[in-house]
Amino acid sequence: MKINKRNVFTRIRKAVLSFTVVMIISLLSMTFVNSLQAEVFTATAYCSCKKCCNKDPSSKWYGITASGRKAGWGTVAVDRRLIALGSRLRIEGFPKTIFRADDVGGAIKGKHIDVWFPTHRKALEFGRQKLVVELVSG
Ligand SMILES: [Zn+2]
Repeated sequence: MKINKRNVFTRIRKAVLSFTVVMIISLLSMTFVNSLQAEVFTATAYCSCKKCCNKDPSSKWYGITASGRKAGWGTVAVDRRLIALGSRLRIEGFPKTIFRADDVGGAIKGKHIDVWFPTHRKALEFGRQKLVVELVSG
């Protein structure tokens, strides 16, 4: 089989071009990230269950966060002295989600966030991690 040289060159050119574009985008986003507040936090996880929130499923406050919103994917508990309720956050490892500081917790102090998960099992699986948390401005 004959290899079409022109085709190969076009492919290489395209690959180099897309690589360059990706590099430029990542360099730009790095600059962007650095210009915002980004710091390493201790990240733990919780769910709406009684073990985590000490609220019975029959309670009208079950699954309701400190801000009054219903807890859902994207909800995080924070130390409101450090991060104001309603702040939007990006968390390392979850590039598709903009989280919202909607909740607080007795054990959530300083550079510590608690990420809401839909089940207790998933919260346990998350465990405790050190992750970069970035405040999304605006
Ligand atoms: Zn739980």
